[in-house]
Amino acid sequence: TIPQFILDSHHPTRPVRPHGIPWLIDDVSGTKVGFDELRARSNGLANALKIQYGIGENDVGTSFYRVLTEETVVLTGGEVCVFSSNHIDYPVLVWAAHRLGATVSTANPSYTTDELVYQLQISGSGIIFAHPGSLEIAAEAATKAGISHDRVIVLDSVAGSPYKTVSEMINFGLRRPVSYVERRLEAGEAKTKLAFLCFSSGTTGKPKAVAISHFAVIANVVQLAVHHKIDDPTIPPEEARFAVGEVCTAVLPFFHIYGLIVNLHFALFCAMSIVVIPKFNFTDFLASIVRYRITDLMIVPPMLVLISKHPAVKNYDLSHVKATWSGAAPLSIELTLQVSKVLPNAIIGQGYGMTETATAVTLMPPPQRLGNGSVGTLMPGCAAKVIKQDGTLGGVGELGELVITGPNMALRYHNNEQATKETFVDGWVHTGDEVYFDVKGEMFVVDRLKELIKVRGFQVPPAELEGHLLGHPYVADVAVIPLPDDYSGEIPMAYVVPSTDVAARVRDPKEAEKVKAEIIKYVADNKVKYKWLAGGVEFIDVIPKNPSGKLLRRILRDKARADRAVK
Ligand code: AMP
Repeated sequence: TIPQFILDSHHPTRPVRPHGIPWLIDDVSGTKVGFDELRARSNGLANALKIQYGIGENDVGTSFYRVLTEETVVLTGGEVCVFSSNHIDYPVLVWAAHRLGATVSTANPSYTTDELVYQLQISGSGIIFAHPGSLEIAAEAATKAGISHDRVIVLDSVAGSPYKTVSEMINFGLRRPVSYVERRLEAGEAKTKLAFLCFSSGTTGKPKAVAISHFAVIANVVQLAVHHKIDDPTIPPEEARFAVGEVCTAVLPFFHIYGLIVNLHFALFCAMSIVVIPKFNFTDFLASIVRYRITDLMIVPPMLVLISKHPAVKNYDLSHVKATWSGAAPLSIELTLQVSKVLPNAIIGQGYGMTETATAVTLMPPPQRLGNGSVGTLMPGCAAKVIKQDGTLGGVGELGELVITGPNMALRYHNNEQATKETFVDGWVHTGDEVYFDVKGEMFVVDRLKELIKVRGFQVPPAELEGHLLGHPYVADVAVIPLPDDYSGEIPMAYVVPSTDVAARVRDPKEAEKVKAEIIKYVADNKVKYKWLAGGVEFIDVIPKNPSGKLLRRILRDKARADRAVK
């Protein structure tokens, strides 16, 4: 299991962590956490989860029934939802659940109640760990999802709160005799034993729970290590990547696959220290880089835009930064060059991956220092096909959909056979990304063929917003598409066919603006901020569709770009 791999064993590719190098550092308080404490806290929490809730592979499942829509669903495991911003106890929660054989579903702590309810239901979670800042939403969502409030546990104590804290549970668990039998896996079982249910909309439709095995996570950590030759003593120090004792940021959210696997598990495996940052604020971020002498910045392109442009940067000495690692959204060659001027001593690296591939499938290989717009070469163990529009295989330089396989692939979409069939085919994942490979084996991501919109690296599934907008009385039909944006990468905009209620009103420009504002507010009131219609609303007579009723988003996307170019 993952905690056995990270805490209890020593994989041959793993560097030795000298005594005294902290595992995690809390950015705000400066508190350092080491191996002994992390392991004790995970084990203590596992014991408490077992004693107080009966969490385990089969216990909760057989005694715990809930009603989902029309059907009654029997939970088959102790699914645990972590609804928290980054916190030094985040891995403790994850590993405690894994010690018991439970599966962890990681949720965005900024979600609205309904967004969280959806995730709780799709993942079948029966316990929620909530950050104090997200506690109110967690409690409301628990009520709506039929989870009793004694199953909501808060990460830090909140004055006057009736909820149990993680530390109380750990103290309880550590005082009691060990009453759980640690989940151990038979040879080969890690390939099917689920570790995480992380959410992604994939190529189409609403968010789905991606079923990720222990093996996939461990494989990706080892692949990253081998790709970067982290155990090769002949590599000169100036070329060493992810070296022992280096310090990296953890500002990427742990609920997202990139934060969870690369930033948390891989960095810990490499014997780096992680500065855990709960909330991104750019100038605080700069101060933290200096205060903790952070060497590796694991970030997304909008943060690199700030590094290249923000006036505050010149007030900080960032000369000790060795590398920036960007993923989750495209990083252009232009931005790479701008950042390299600000951080002349740093590698400006880029990787590519997705939730369905349990993170990285490509990464800029050593000893390259600057990206050239490519997302790097394939991880060891991965194989890729480029499928051209006519269905045949593309060769060097030819464009097509990336279809990928390797030991890190997720298994399926949980309880969603139809979507699984479309994306997970005979061990290959259909990415919905348009790419090509050059002669050196470097991959370039050219476009997204799938409908997914990515705002600052976060997923915005158009189908989710369209479903929501159709619930508004002013909306007869709707399509949501991405607009390019310098900072966010993309922002969502909606083409709306006005309902008969407002058809006359929208012909008057002033009234049309009021109607648009109400539609925009309807999204803002119900969805997490990055899903808001920052690209605005435009009215249209009819949404273009093919004969079987499928939205022709590309026509609208091109129209929006053309209209903006004219303006
Ligand atoms: P997620 O599952 O949220 O990580 O989203 C995965 C998607 O993000 C991929 O299918 C790509 O569309 C996009 N993506 C990830 N990394 C990159 C990158 N380096 N360049 C371009 N797109 C990327």
